[in-house]
Amino acid sequence: MDREKIIVIDFGGQYNQLVARRVRECSVYCEIYSYRTDLKQIKAMKPKGIILTGGPNSCYEEGAPSCGEELFDLGVPVLGLCYGAQLMMHVLGGHVCKAPVREYGRVEVMVDTSTKLFHDVTPLTVCWMSHNDYIKKMASGFRMIAHTADCPVAAAQNTSRNLYAIQFHPEVLHTVEGAKILHNFVYDICGCVGDWRMDSFVETSVQAIRRKVGQGKVLCALSGGVDSSVAAVLLSRAVGSQLTCVFVDHGLLRKNEGDEVEEVFGPNGPYDLHFIRVNAQERFYRKLAGVAEPEEKRKIIGEEFIRVFEEEAKKIGKVDFLVQGTIYPDVVESGLGGESAVIKSHHNVGGLPDYVDFKEIIEPLRDLFKDEVRRVGLELGIPEKLVFRQPFPGPGLGIRIIGDVTEEKVKMVQEADAIYREEMAAAGLDRLPDQYFAALTNMRSVGVMGDERTYDYAIALRAVNTVDFMTAEASQIPWEVLQRVTNRIVNEVSHVNRVLYDITSKPPGTVEFE
Ligand code: GLN
Repeated sequence: MDREKIIVIDFGGQYNQLVARRVRECSVYCEIYSYRTDLKQIKAMKPKGIILTGGPNSCYEEGAPSCGEELFDLGVPVLGLCYGAQLMMHVLGGHVCKAPVREYGRVEVMVDTSTKLFHDVTPLTVCWMSHNDYIKKMASGFRMIAHTADCPVAAAQNTSRNLYAIQFHPEVLHTVEGAKILHNFVYDICGCVGDWRMDSFVETSVQAIRRKVGQGKVLCALSGGVDSSVAAVLLSRAVGSQLTCVFVDHGLLRKNEGDEVEEVFGPNGPYDLHFIRVNAQERFYRKLAGVAEPEEKRKIIGEEFIRVFEEEAKKIGKVDFLVQGTIYPDVVESGLGGESAVIKSHHNVGGLPDYVDFKEIIEPLRDLFKDEVRRVGLELGIPEKLVFRQPFPGPGLGIRIIGDVTEEKVKMVQEADAIYREEMAAAGLDRLPDQYFAALTNMRSVGVMGDERTYDYAIALRAVNTVDFMTAEASQIPWEVLQRVTNRIVNEVSHVNRVLYDITSKPPGTVEFE
């Protein structure tokens, strides 16, 4: 039986991945597609429901992202959110225009709780709004089912056509009962039963991998990060002795990390992964010499990875498949899933040279969000310590060094980062920020040390809180801790004479500092 699926059609809003995540939290599988996707393709996927996202445009403007009227005649329930709601009305003959009062932030919404959509929701519920336009006149056949003091149509429905429009954003956590509203849509309106569960994911993945691999040999790129560790253990469960895991120490890992990875996944650890460690530091430093542009560094590191694997593969004999720990946000952020602009190329996605020597790439986690990967990891019995490890980018410290990468700079950032982590742990704060690290800025400035002038580098410290890494805010690390870290770094790390703390949120920043 086919897995039931909800499709999110992306009109460029910033919360679109969140929509998909919320649906999956209801145990229903969900995928994101650009609004440019051919309707025939959407139809062929036999979705149980379709959700149209928000977006920055005004639907009545020339050239604004749109959809054909046929979308609403597929016989599949459609829920429009914000831009999606406005577009639905616009396309079906309603009137959308600039609102006399724009709403931004938390707003109290009066909802009709006798509807399926708002069943069990509090009549006056706090929602999150972000709009300049509004639905002035609904398309015919629609009935208003929610409003606010300033917004006459905060939601509308046409039950005979199974069409629903919501002006606010149920996907963001500020909308207190948003999850319930999406749950109502997915279960009571689309008729889903909820067949997306992580235990069945492990089972079906293992079967699918076995079918695909047959007697073939599999090579897995293990970095020690959460994604590749989960991928490796999943593969070993599926094809056991046909798997070899290669861990490339590219010289861009955190301090001592290479040895730690070897301890867990190596021959003396609890898993049997046919673990091979390649010490390729020199090669990477050589390739990176003089390269300052972050995208170029990512590409070089990604390609060199593949080279090293090819060589390892040749030593092992014929290898048919290469495993990578790509996850869904990598796919979407690389511009392949939805409508979001290419923010950065992911080393796992699109960065592969076309002369790769393997029959095929296997990406068993390609459909999963990070929290789902962690659940799969726990399902597979991987220790919590590993499963909840801080995210670390594939290109490693290569992108946490602004400007060109040298061995000396790598040492500097490794030492600074180790001090930062030590002091955070000592203060009992190491699990609080969702990610924190030191980066080496390319800035040198004058300082004074032991009465002598110095002209040295500045280290940047970053710590962020985030639910999903799509948005983030800087953590408020206690001043004393920052001071202790700073003192130790300038004292213990040579050629560093200044420490800065980055308080930029994402957006406009990113979580990484590159
Ligand atoms: N751009 C539209 C408006 O301003 C939709 C906004 C949105 O989807 N968040 O109303």
